[in-house]
Amino acid sequence: MDRDISRLKDILNRSNYTVAVCGSGMAAESGFLGFKMAERAYEIERAYGASPEEIFTGGYYNTRTVQFFNFYKKEMLEKVPEPGAGSRVLAAMEKAGRLQCIITANVFEQEQRAGCENVINLHGSVFANRCPHCGENYAMEEIRDAKGVPHCRKCNSVVRPLVSLYGEMIDSRVMTRTTEEIGRADVLLLLGTTMQSEVFSNYIRYFNGKALVIIHKESHFSDKGADLVILDEPGRVLDQLGYTNG
Ligand SMILES: [Zn+2]
Repeated sequence: MDRDISRLKDILNRSNYTVAVCGSGMAAESGFLGFKMAERAYEIERAYGASPEEIFTGGYYNTRTVQFFNFYKKEMLEKVPEPGAGSRVLAAMEKAGRLQCIITANVFEQEQRAGCENVINLHGSVFANRCPHCGENYAMEEIRDAKGVPHCRKCNSVVRPLVSLYGEMIDSRVMTRTTEEIGRADVLLLLGTTMQSEVFSNYIRYFNGKALVIIHKESHFSDKGADLVILDEPGRVLDQLGYTNG
């Protein structure tokens, strides 16, 4: 382990452009379990009568709006996780000039709330909400605390959370920015995700730098494609790099 940490330090110190990719394993460390785990999916199906993949969709938002917001508020907005140790270290690394961009599939802005600046929220953010009709913006708390379905105070349309729902295309500008950042990187850090991740694999193909590092609790057959693999929680590993915020 100590050898891995010193190798990681060495890799980071030689890099001129480091990009971190944050997957579900980064949200898990701050307590958000997501919906992919079998037990969670089963609990949700029992509580709401449908799977997360059915409820968290444009179809539900449009036609079963009450059920959509009931699920969204209870399972996401009332469970917004605080930034974990990993996010705080990323902010310190960025401030020290050792990290240039953070790409995340998590929608809770843990990285920004920890102080990171150049962040791409690939799947949007629960903190951004907009009326699709008149463009009025709403804070997360206004959606969370609304009675039932949140309606626009100006035009009474249903407010739309600016997060990607299952099956939705990602904004093409966000996709372009993501491939550009990964294409520029000397070092790519995969935190709490794998090279074969459904979300990231198409972007990771654009990596053409010196070292690809995976820090993840679970091993995966595709890990052999990486230059360094540390099988542990990203926050715990990053914490040992010696970056402090302040
Ligand atoms: Zn409106």
